[in-house]
Amino acid sequence: MPPNRRAACSRNARSKSCRSKSTGCIDRRRDATGYSSLRLQPDGSFFGDPIPPAPARSPAAMSSAPRRRSKRLGKVGHPPPRRPTGRGMTDTALFSLLLILVAPVAGSFLGVVIDRLPRGISVVAPRSACRSCGTILGARDLVPVLSYLRRRGRCRTCGAAIPPALLYTEIAATASAVLAVIVGDTPLQMALIALVLWLLWTLALIDLFHFRLPDPLTAPLFLAALAYAWLYGDPALALSGAAIGAGSFLLLRLVYSALRHREGLGLGDVKLMAGLGALVPPTDLPLLVLVAALSALVAAALTRGGWTADRPIPFGVALCAAGALVWLARVVLP
Ligand SMILES: [Zn+2]
Repeated sequence: MPPNRRAACSRNARSKSCRSKSTGCIDRRRDATGYSSLRLQPDGSFFGDPIPPAPARSPAAMSSAPRRRSKRLGKVGHPPPRRPTGRGMTDTALFSLLLILVAPVAGSFLGVVIDRLPRGISVVAPRSACRSCGTILGARDLVPVLSYLRRRGRCRTCGAAIPPALLYTEIAATASAVLAVIVGDTPLQMALIALVLWLLWTLALIDLFHFRLPDPLTAPLFLAALAYAWLYGDPALALSGAAIGAGSFLLLRLVYSALRHREGLGLGDVKLMAGLGALVPPTDLPLLVLVAALSALVAAALTRGGWTADRPIPFGVALCAAGALVWLARVVLP
């Protein structure tokens, strides 16, 4: 009998009731030569027992073993690292390229929206035409950026100047897509960032030219901001930010109207702040408004006419620019 014997559990050492099984119990076992002490092995066998051959494992079973383990680890709070596979990286690269290629076309459409939406004209029909001579634009006149540069910004038929805002919109849409590809990690995140930037650009230009912030653009901005927060942030925080942003601007609008008996802040700015408030954290809203107010005052002072108290300022332009700046800074530097 070995001196370090801790338990003697006779023939039932293999049963589950043997509490010393894992620590190595000592079993008295009768064999052909009488009683002898045998040490129970962790796999349930004894010294002296014939070791059964290990079952042959197919290559498929061997390759699936690590996968089962990582799945099990994921359930107990240690999720396996989600590294992009080669296929995922290829898909993301392909989507990035597609987004950058589609961006000028999207910019061309946004140019139509900027031109028609404030005038109450459908953005789908009729087809694009020269506003001077009415000539319907053909396919070669609708190639983004290139057609403008080729015609040097003039109509092919009458030579009337084409508003450069169309060219700037196509370039800005492409730049926004490149920025989204740089900042975003997944195709969905890239698409959402590009969509938000396109909406902000369109809203800014419509406010610059028409002093309006149409609901068909502020509502999608709010929804896109909520979708982004739901996927990559905190939806409750986004909703509270939207309420704080829109509520504070609404209060400001009411107070100004009561004191000066005229409109000082448009209702479109209130709706825009709902979208911007959902984009950035509530704690960043004062910074956003401060940057917007300062940049609007500087821009008004530098442009023709200078800044006066009675001069209307398209504050939505400054809000969109400041919102994009603060939001992207938060995305890059969370
Ligand atoms: Zn023309």
